[in-house]
Amino acid sequence: MMQLSNTIGIIGAGPIGLIVAIELCKKGYSKDLFIFEEHELIGRPVHCAGLISNRCFNIFRYSSDLDYVQNKVRGAIFYSPLKAKELVVEREQTQAFVIDREIYDRTLAEIVESEGVRIYRKCRIEDVVESGEGYKLYSTKGQSFRVKILVNAEGARYLILRKVGLKSPDNKFLLTAIQYELNNVKNIDQDYVEIFTGNLWAPGFFAWLIPLDEKRARIGLATCRRPAIKYLNHLILKHPMLKDRVNNSKITKVLAGRVVISGPLSKCTARNFIAVGDAGGFCKPTTGGGLYYGGLSAKLAAKMIDTTITSEDYTKIPSFDRMWRRLFGKEIVYMRILRDIVFNLNDLELEEMFSLARELSISDIASKIGDIDYQSNVVKELVGCCFRGMVFKKIIFWNILYRMFLGIFDHFGELCRLIRI
Ligand SMILES: Cc1cc2nc3c(=O)[nH]c(=O)nc-3n(C[C@H](O)[C@H](O)[C@H](O)COP(=O)(O)OP(=O)(O)OC[C@H]3O[C@@H](n4cnc5c(N)ncnc54)[C@H](O)[C@@H]3O)c2cc1C
Repeated sequence: MMQLSNTIGIIGAGPIGLIVAIELCKKGYSKDLFIFEEHELIGRPVHCAGLISNRCFNIFRYSSDLDYVQNKVRGAIFYSPLKAKELVVEREQTQAFVIDREIYDRTLAEIVESEGVRIYRKCRIEDVVESGEGYKLYSTKGQSFRVKILVNAEGARYLILRKVGLKSPDNKFLLTAIQYELNNVKNIDQDYVEIFTGNLWAPGFFAWLIPLDEKRARIGLATCRRPAIKYLNHLILKHPMLKDRVNNSKITKVLAGRVVISGPLSKCTARNFIAVGDAGGFCKPTTGGGLYYGGLSAKLAAKMIDTTITSEDYTKIPSFDRMWRRLFGKEIVYMRILRDIVFNLNDLELEEMFSLARELSISDIASKIGDIDYQSNVVKELVGCCFRGMVFKKIIFWNILYRMFLGIFDHFGELCRLIRI
């Protein structure tokens, strides 16, 4: 057994595990840090569309080398499910970056290794057992390691999480995703992401087109139904806003993965153990985007570990759960309520929403107040719209308000936790 006592072990060299490592290196822990990654090549296989907000890009830009930036966008075009009506949300300046996740993850790994941190590649941890003050880790190749603090950044697999007795997200919040990268796509506006709504196209979620340049794009979707590939092929062959644009395209890359829309787990910590990134559910409940809140969870975990080690008080680790709630817990509740409303509307209701959104100039409002990472403003505005909409005696608004009420009721436990901190 390799004795790595008094050390910090990170399972998973995805972006979030690597951000924890970078933040710990900044605090002087590079010699006490070990990362375990099952794959040989960091960043592969990719399972991401690579769209991140300006804010996320700036906070987690650890290198001046920006080879991983592929495009910048300043707006989004939403298509209604049945009539493909457009709703455009836009600003003058760049709102989001499109990045190559393989290069981004590799860049982070290079930074970590340049600090002297060892990444054990091709080292899949299959078992984790509490031992003394820390944990013993066992790899599939028969190696074993001992660590004092364990950071779980295994992504959306939840194997390690269950081993320490924590509860993984409900399966209904783990969606199957699939994405093609295509060349020769016609009529791409590089400035806009396109979102295809409706259960007809992506049941339980939505589909996307993310432009890489004027001819190449990532087209993908996530769904609660299987097989997801059937829905993606149906989308590109039949969607009125896509079919004629991709008829001469070639698929150059295919990727698949799990999109997590649960939001953070109610408990992400155990004794000397913290779950971060997808492993802790740190993704947006409305879009599954995991880099921003995952990155924040990584920074916070590094801070908690530093405080714990400096004070030699290992009982401090569970306060990670209180800290993330204090930082962004309220936003997560808003996004969960928005998720529960939007993904439960049927296609007729969604279509009606698109029509009314035009009447009520919702896209202008969203262009002004919308924020990819902080969506509570949109929820508050939606409440206002519902009241204004009721004046028009539209049933749909009563329906949304009713669902909002149900949402508050559903998330009552989490709201109480927020009030207590
Ligand atoms: C199709 C798709 C599109 C997406 N698009 C976006 C987007 O546009 N923007 C956005 O912000 N987010 C997006 N996401 C979500 C984003 O990809 C994830 O939130 C992000 O990758 C989470 O990073 P992570 O480090 O927590 O996990 P991962 O990236 O999954 O990394 C976990 C790492 O741990 C390794 N590992 C797992 N178990 C073990 C083990 N037992 N032993 C050793 N190694 C192990 C894995 O091999 C992997 O390398 C998307 C997800 C999908 C599926």
